[in-house]
Amino acid sequence: MSKLQIHQFPCLGDNYGVLVHDDASGMTASIDAPDGQAVLDALKETSWKLTHILVTHHHADHTQGIGELISAYGDCKVIGPTETMSKVPSIQLGVGDGDEIMFAGQSVQVIATPGHTLDMINFYFPEQGVVFTGDTLFAMGCGRVFEGDPAMMWASLEKLMKLPADTAIYCGHEYTLANANFAMSVDGDNPALQARVEEVKALREKGEPTLPTNMQLELDTNPFLRAADAGIRKNLGMENASDGEVFAEIRGRKDNF
Ligand code: ZN
Ligand code: FE
Repeated sequence: MSKLQIHQFPCLGDNYGVLVHDDASGMTASIDAPDGQAVLDALKETSWKLTHILVTHHHADHTQGIGELISAYGDCKVIGPTETMSKVPSIQLGVGDGDEIMFAGQSVQVIATPGHTLDMINFYFPEQGVVFTGDTLFAMGCGRVFEGDPAMMWASLEKLMKLPADTAIYCGHEYTLANANFAMSVDGDNPALQARVEEVKALREKGEPTLPTNMQLELDTNPFLRAADAGIRKNLGMENASDGEVFAEIRGRKDNF
């Protein structure tokens, strides 16, 4: 099993594009297509040829570049949520929770994580220890709940929390600094969070990405995954609430932060 190469690049202001490449087979997947030209530029820079597009959800800042990429790479295979095929007709293969697809001879597991949108799927590469979480899980944050409800989003995050702690996490946006500021407002006594906030500030001051992150770091510092934490519960005055209720309260506070 060969190690896949991953190239992440910023685009559209705060989005990330990601290319996943296998040297042996020459296959290259674009995770979403936020900006066609930016993905084409990244392909040129890496000298990789696009063979797949893996779509996480229907939002324009994840799908609007698909047409341009298909124009340039007519053979590339577009895989995305089955229920989005009516909205994004360029999706050729629809997949859903529990499905497995193969990329460069390696397993890719589809994990449905509805909440931000109802169609959201994440792509987990178990042999690489990498997951692409779209707009579900961010560094120290999670997606705004647009189409689902907080209970649905919490259930989705709980699924991701079961991945191995050393799983690398790539997501759709560089929202980390704003997320860090909010995280401090509900979990400010957490030393792991305090240390990470300083690291993140330093990275952003140099214009460097704060991603990928990993599951252990998120479990330690992401307030949206820490609904069970005694300190956060005390800060919110929710010692006896369920984890789902604490999550919903944190999500609501972030929406108004
Ligand atoms: Zn989105
Ligand atoms: Fe997005």
